[in-house]
Amino acid sequence: MSMREFDFVEPTSVSEACALLAEDPDGSAVFAGGTDILVDLKAGLKHHQRLVSLARIEELRAVELTADGALRIGATATINQIARHQGIKERFSGINDAAMSLAAEQVRNQATVAGNLCMAVPSADMAPILLAHGATMRVVSPVGERVVPLREFFVGPRETILEAADVVVAIDVPPPAPGTGDASLRQGGRVSLSLPMAAVAAVVVMEKRICREATVTLGAVAPTPIMATAAGEVVTGNELSEDVLREAGERAAEAAVPIDDLRATKEYRLELVKVLTRRVLQAAADRAKG
Ligand SMILES: Cc1cc2nc3c(=O)[nH]c(=O)nc-3n(C[C@H](O)[C@H](O)[C@H](O)COP(=O)(O)OP(=O)(O)OC[C@H]3O[C@@H](n4cnc5c(N)ncnc54)[C@H](O)[C@@H]3O)c2cc1C
Repeated sequence: MSMREFDFVEPTSVSEACALLAEDPDGSAVFAGGTDILVDLKAGLKHHQRLVSLARIEELRAVELTADGALRIGATATINQIARHQGIKERFSGINDAAMSLAAEQVRNQATVAGNLCMAVPSADMAPILLAHGATMRVVSPVGERVVPLREFFVGPRETILEAADVVVAIDVPPPAPGTGDASLRQGGRVSLSLPMAAVAAVVVMEKRICREATVTLGAVAPTPIMATAAGEVVTGNELSEDVLREAGERAAEAAVPIDDLRATKEYRLELVKVLTRRVLQAAADRAKG
């Protein structure tokens, strides 16, 4: 299938993009970096009459760290924009981890963070850490703007709450509390560039050696990225002893509902969740800053 078969439009404002999508909601799709959508179109998995590119909408490109410590990622900010951002590396190391783990240089130059979330594959690399940080999606439709917490965004594999004429314009990450540390870890296959077989992210708030708050999230082991709430609860109020970490790993594995597929068996994914949970919590705590 060649690009000529689509109407490829490049609006210069979000309202224009929404209007173009609304003209033919079922036949149109947003086009960001194109690294997922082009693969689907070529494979015949999707048939869109019109691709509405966001590339010319200037205001969507920015990545901003605000004075209060919040992070805003514009809809067309690429994975490499995140991976190379020194401030993010320092203040949101776990988000840097996730960006660095996604594919290779060429894909990272095109792929957007928003596209990764909107595609909603269960193993999307940016999802667990952004979920753990309590990120929200800013969504614009022809009738207005709304804010959707990421934990309510994913519905199932490749399915989100987005309506056909919705455009995600930004992802907002709230400012971390003092003493926060974060990390994201994944285990890929043996082949380089493969999607993760399991991924775990953690955000912890440390007060000296005691963990005051902990959020653990999982990727690639359920129909959507998920919260492992019980794993965080085990850690909260405790030092990260070996026992506590092991218990957190067990709880995280209980939250997972992995499948057997070509990349790994169910049992292997559950073992990975246990190991990754222990490691990611320790890594997040080691990074915690006062
Ligand atoms: C070789 C290769 C390796 C890859 N490796 C990885 C990997 O290791 N880990 C990983 O997680 N992914 C991987 N991917 C998948 C892909 O690169 C990412 O999911 C990427 O972040 C998608 O972003 P994009 O901007 O290219 O999305 P696009 O392809 O432009 O869009 C993806 C979907 O999201 C929708 N969409 C995009 N932006 C918006 C928006 N602002 N509002 C509403 N809807 C929107 C589109 O309509 C489409 O349905 C890989 C892809 C390739 C080709």
